[in-house]
Amino acid sequence: MIPSSFEYFAPKTVQEALGLLAKYPDDAKVLAGGHSLIPQMKLRLAAPGVLVDIGRISGLSYIREDAGKLSIGATTTHHALESSALVKKKCALLSETAAEIGDVQVRNRGTIGGSLAHADPAADWPAAILALEAELKLTGPSGERRLKAEDFFVDMLATALSPNELLTEIGVPALPQRTGCAYLKMRQKASGFAIVGVAVRVTVDSNQVCQQIGIGITGVASKAYRPRSVENALKGQKLDRALIASSASKAAQGVDALADLHASAEYRVHLAGVYTRRAIETALARVK
Ligand code: FAD
Repeated sequence: MIPSSFEYFAPKTVQEALGLLAKYPDDAKVLAGGHSLIPQMKLRLAAPGVLVDIGRISGLSYIREDAGKLSIGATTTHHALESSALVKKKCALLSETAAEIGDVQVRNRGTIGGSLAHADPAADWPAAILALEAELKLTGPSGERRLKAEDFFVDMLATALSPNELLTEIGVPALPQRTGCAYLKMRQKASGFAIVGVAVRVTVDSNQVCQQIGIGITGVASKAYRPRSVENALKGQKLDRALIASSASKAAQGVDALADLHASAEYRVHLAGVYTRRAIETALARVK
């Protein structure tokens, strides 16, 4: 289908983009990679009168190491994160997650900021961002604010972003020694979206006692979440297969699981347990 007509702007700076969002408060939509918004527009599920294309703002696409943490500009593509040597060295969970997204065309155009702002309940990035306890920088007319990933995702396709704000940067803390990470997913065969996807970051001491753990689960509920009951059952404990299995079985505890033509709610709950167990075991095996 053909989208309804719209005005198109390609600002060169963040300030210019914010000015356009302020000028068209009820009608403007930010365009990044366009790989979620354009399909929505073609299906007439979205009909913005104004598109503010942030893809030409050169200062929004970068991967930097600042004081141990990785800072990622919002328009950095999935492919850039998948292929960056710095990311592979400092936080391979990001490269692993990026490589799981869609296909090569999607990864070449789609951006991490667009994916997080879109908040699709089956998107891959939210799981990794939650597991890593990343911080999101939002820039609006009155300046910047920083939110924990957990406070950013509100509901299905809903985030803490105001219509006049841009997500500008994702900050990923440095990983301590003896940390292992993994992202495992069951993909929907046609699109690649997660039926269930689980990201794990675990730090253990030399006796395999869990010092820190972050788990992010996508695909199961209306928004990606951290299964706190699993994390709490493992933190401070010596990690063995039996404890991991019994804790992982709580991965969808208290969650209202989604059901659609790809998977029933019961199946998603089952997969959440299985993938959480496997992702923890894989992360643990990667501890160096
Ligand atoms: P856009 O489509 O341009 O924007 C998406 C939304 O976010 C819009 O509402 C827009 O206004 C808003 N927005 C964008 N950037 C910002 C910003 N910086 N600040 C504020 N608001 C912003 N995703 C997966 O996770 N896993 C998959 O397996 C997967 N498979 C896919 C397969 C296909 C065939 C397609 C078409 C898409 C797939 N995707 C998948 C989605 C893909 O990752 C998109 O790139 C991503 O969801 C949106 O990023 P974008 O840069 O394209 O954003």
